[in-house]
Amino acid sequence: MLRDRLERFMHGRYGQDELNRVLSVTALALCVISLIIQLPVLSSLAIALVIICVFRSFSRNTGKRVREAESYFALKSRIFRFFTGIIERLRVSRTHRIFACPSCGQRCRVPKGLGSVRITCKKCGAKFMKKT
Ligand SMILES: [Zn+2]
Repeated sequence: MLRDRLERFMHGRYGQDELNRVLSVTALALCVISLIIQLPVLSSLAIALVIICVFRSFSRNTGKRVREAESYFALKSRIFRFFTGIIERLRVSRTHRIFACPSCGQRCRVPKGLGSVRITCKKCGAKFMKKT
C-alpha cells in the first residue's frame, strides 16, 4: 500500500542520480566538519545542499535535471583529467625532460642524461638545441 502510494507520488518525478548522491554525501561531510570546528555557515550550506537534493528528486522538470547531471559529469571529467595530467607529468619528469618548441609551442619529450641534443619538433619540424 505505502509502496504503491510512493510509486504514484514519484511517477513523472526525477528521482535520484549520482549528482544527488554526491550532494548528499557532501552535506553529511559538511555537517560533521561543522560539528568539529563550530562554523555555523557550514551547517547552513549543508541544509542548502539537502534542500537542493530534495528539490531535484521531486522535480517534474526531468529535462533540466538531466542537463544538470550532464554538466556535473563534464565538470567531474575535467577535474579527473586535470589531476591525471599532474600525475602523468610527475611520472614523466623522473626519466624525461619536456621542452616547448620555440616556433609552435608544441611540448617535446626528451630522455634525461643525453647531454646537448638537437630536437626536431614532431608538429612543425623546427630544430633546436637543448641540454637534457
Ligand atoms: Zn614546433
